[in-house]
Amino acid sequence: MQEFDPHVLEEKAVPPPLEFSKGARVKSLDEYRRIFDRAAGDPEGFWAEQAEQLDWFEPYTQVLEWKSPHAKWFVGGKLNVAHNCLDRHVAKNPARMALIWEAEDGAVVRLTYAQLHERVCRFANALKSLGVKDGDCVAIYMPMIPELPVAMLACARIGAIHSVVFGGFSATALSDRIADAKAKILVTADGGYRRGRVVPLKDTADAALKNCPTIEKSVVVKRTGEKVAWESSRDLWWHDLEKSASKDCPATSLDSEHPLYILYTSGTTGKPKGVLHTSAGYLLQCMWSMQLVFDLRDSDVYWCTADIGWVTGHSYIVYGPLANGATVVMYEGAPDHPAKDRFWQIVEKYKVSIFYSSATAIRAFMSWGMDWLNKHDLSSLRVLGTVGEPINPAAWKWYNGAIGKGRCPIVDTWWQTETGAIMISPLPGATPAKPGSATLPIPGVAAKVVNLQGRPVAPGETGYLTIQKPWPAMLRTIYGDDERYAREYWRRIPGVYFAGDAAQCDKDGYIWVLGRVDDVIKVAGHRLSSMEIESALVSHTSVAEAAVVARPDDIKGEAIVCFVTLRSGHSPSGQLRSALMEHVAVTIGSIARPADVRFCDLLPKTRSGKIMRRLLRELAHKGGISGDTTTLEDMGVIERLAKSQGQDEE
Ligand code: ATP
Ligand code: MG
Repeated sequence: MQEFDPHVLEEKAVPPPLEFSKGARVKSLDEYRRIFDRAAGDPEGFWAEQAEQLDWFEPYTQVLEWKSPHAKWFVGGKLNVAHNCLDRHVAKNPARMALIWEAEDGAVVRLTYAQLHERVCRFANALKSLGVKDGDCVAIYMPMIPELPVAMLACARIGAIHSVVFGGFSATALSDRIADAKAKILVTADGGYRRGRVVPLKDTADAALKNCPTIEKSVVVKRTGEKVAWESSRDLWWHDLEKSASKDCPATSLDSEHPLYILYTSGTTGKPKGVLHTSAGYLLQCMWSMQLVFDLRDSDVYWCTADIGWVTGHSYIVYGPLANGATVVMYEGAPDHPAKDRFWQIVEKYKVSIFYSSATAIRAFMSWGMDWLNKHDLSSLRVLGTVGEPINPAAWKWYNGAIGKGRCPIVDTWWQTETGAIMISPLPGATPAKPGSATLPIPGVAAKVVNLQGRPVAPGETGYLTIQKPWPAMLRTIYGDDERYAREYWRRIPGVYFAGDAAQCDKDGYIWVLGRVDDVIKVAGHRLSSMEIESALVSHTSVAEAAVVARPDDIKGEAIVCFVTLRSGHSPSGQLRSALMEHVAVTIGSIARPADVRFCDLLPKTRSGKIMRRLLRELAHKGGISGDTTTLEDMGVIERLAKSQGQDEE
């Protein structure tokens, strides 16, 4: 592959705030390197050492059994994930706060570890009373309410496999996922709240269940109290079940490799896949990465703003934090309800100290302006995190200055549904940040940027992001399609895990994730990253968000088409369009000068908030969309984009 123009990616390193480093778990880059080298020299010994932090019912006999591409971690060991997330903390400090849940209307539910434990045990017994046995699949389709983590942990307690389907998905998306996982029980709610409106979840679930012969019972949480249709042979109220169930439910002793859950990826690239995660290795890496990457302390109040319907919520709202006995904030609703300062109100109210959000949310906050922040005391914050997409350097700097006030290290965490836990990230007290780079792999993770033959590429050259050795939280397979698992992840570059992302490694060994391999643009023989051009656009004062794609061009091979949304106070004009084209050309080089800039009110995104360049590519190329749009957040976006295209072409 040819070299990228390094302008945007060449950011100066920002050292961790001195005060922070002094008290951090890992205090310097040297210390990080020592841990990293030790882990790289003996990964199995290293992970075995970390695994002492788990409560085992029976010890394992072998750390890793690797028959490529299949891994078993902690072979022969027995444990229970829910026991590790609850019982052992209850034994030490039952009154410790586990979950602080804030409803969209401001109502609050606080659950100590003892209370959460009791609710989980009751619901686990309820599931048993419905005939759920270990290995059975339970589908969960719920709003962000406390019963959602309770249901997941109840499954884990008895060895049932959960499959959480994001509450914003349609009936078809839900029934497809239920059918694929052959779920026996559905757990849902009468409805949820989003921006003050009732979302009729049960109606959607009922529509889905028309096509789900495997489902025997549907358990319904009463959240809104709205009238709902009721199928008395199938539907059961959660509160009735919970009330009549015993609060004693011993945690089942399960194999290290017992399946914990199936989770379908968000579908930025096409049809969702059921990623299968198992117990011990997954829990270990979630737990341990929390400690290192967020520098977690007993005194922390931790808030991850993701929806539990995505892997970030699984690993970093539920399993990682609770395995550590952390205090977790969970919020039901939207960031702009009732106003655009809702998140900052929550940070102030609960004195949140660790805040973990997405690149897309940060760009939205940035476009909303400072007034919303200035009303609130954010001094409790000490670590900021981001995930989901490359964060544009301009958004990184804004996060650092406006939210962190320069005091809080930012951890830009790269990982995937498939990796289960964080893989590449700064350690907040140790790693100098470079805005836009996820920096260095965490200890125990062998990440490398290579070419198609598997050889490392030179610094500044673009290649493929790979993981060279199995890691504890890795997916074990694609549920029901092991052949696809081997083909997609392990055969493209023989013998190593291929993440599907394009990346560069700089001279300091820092990894720059450039986005998906499919999103790389080839102009006149040069390979340009969509992320780099987007970052150039976002660095312009008028631009809130940008998505850059290629359309075929007779002369150059591909031409660059930019879709941009503007910050509040700016409006589209021909003049601004030319200014943006010029800005990209000046920032990156004339090779990157866009052929077109289109203004739009919103970009098409997945329901997890990621830009769907695949659809924009189709739009730029063919003027319309025929590809799979089932994971699109707002169906109207494409229509509006297609229209605005017509108007623009005066
Ligand atoms: P699908 O695989 O179905 O297309 P998805 O890849 O969006 O969906 P996830 O597993 O949630 O689903 O996202 C992982 C991807 O998100 C990574 O492969 C990468 O492209 C991107 N990503 C996540 N975190 C970062 C980050 N910190 N920096 C850059 N990219 C990131
Ligand atoms: Mg993916």
